[in-house]
Amino acid sequence: MLPVKHDAAAREALYVRAMVAFGVPSQMRMVQEECAELIASINRLDRERCPVQDVINEVADVTIMLEQARLILGPELVDRAVQDKLARLERLLAEVAKIEGTKT
Ligand SMILES: [Mg+2]
Repeated sequence: MLPVKHDAAAREALYVRAMVAFGVPSQMRMVQEECAELIASINRLDRERCPVQDVINEVADVTIMLEQARLILGPELVDRAVQDKLARLERLLAEVAKIEGTKT
């Protein structure tokens, strides 16, 4: 079987199927579980006890589960929060640049 490419619409359809099949509470528990696995893999990488590929795989798992959490919680609300936080990061970096500029 050839690998299937999943564009945004295909991923969303797949996530809806997962939510129907397993239920929203189960998918939210998976978000927690995958985040915990990512944290553990980064800790192991820091101690040189796992290859970076393990962390890459956990990042993929978390990405998939966060996309589902976004759908569950409301894409518009999550996207707005992301935009707000990116704007905050822009302001922080501008402040840092200003402070760094005054040091020279
Ligand atoms: Mg995992």
